[in-house]
Amino acid sequence: MGPCIFCKIVNKEIPAQIVYEDDIALAFEDIEPHAPVHTVVIPRKHITTLLDAKEEDRYLLGHLVHAATTIAREKGIAERGFRIVINCNHEGGQRVYHLHLHLLGGRPLRSPFG
Ligand code: 5GP
Ligand code: ZN
Repeated sequence: MGPCIFCKIVNKEIPAQIVYEDDIALAFEDIEPHAPVHTVVIPRKHITTLLDAKEEDRYLLGHLVHAATTIAREKGIAERGFRIVINCNHEGGQRVYHLHLHLLGGRPLRSPFG
């Protein structure tokens, strides 16, 4: 997937402030943070949207959520609380078409959504 910006981050072709890495996932600071903590968690494997995750990606999806909670703990926001968001497709607010989770926290987050 040549032009995918997040694949380029995985391949270290463009720089990012990487805060977490393992064999399946990678996390980096969002370039336009919406909260004091705004970290993007992605699979190394290119999956375009949540809808493109297959049966065989069930472990990967759980792993991404677990990576996000690990980062929340490391950043000291776990007990205060945080939010994990996956935007899917246009009306869901997805702008980068490589599956990713947003980990948001460090301030009270507004509800309801949207
Ligand atoms: P989406 O709207 O697709 O759910 O979220 C994409 C997120 O990726 C946005 O919050 C945006 O700020 C972030 N983003 C887009 N391009 C880059 C980039 O090149 N580097 C980093 N660190 N974040 C990016
Ligand atoms: Zn990609």
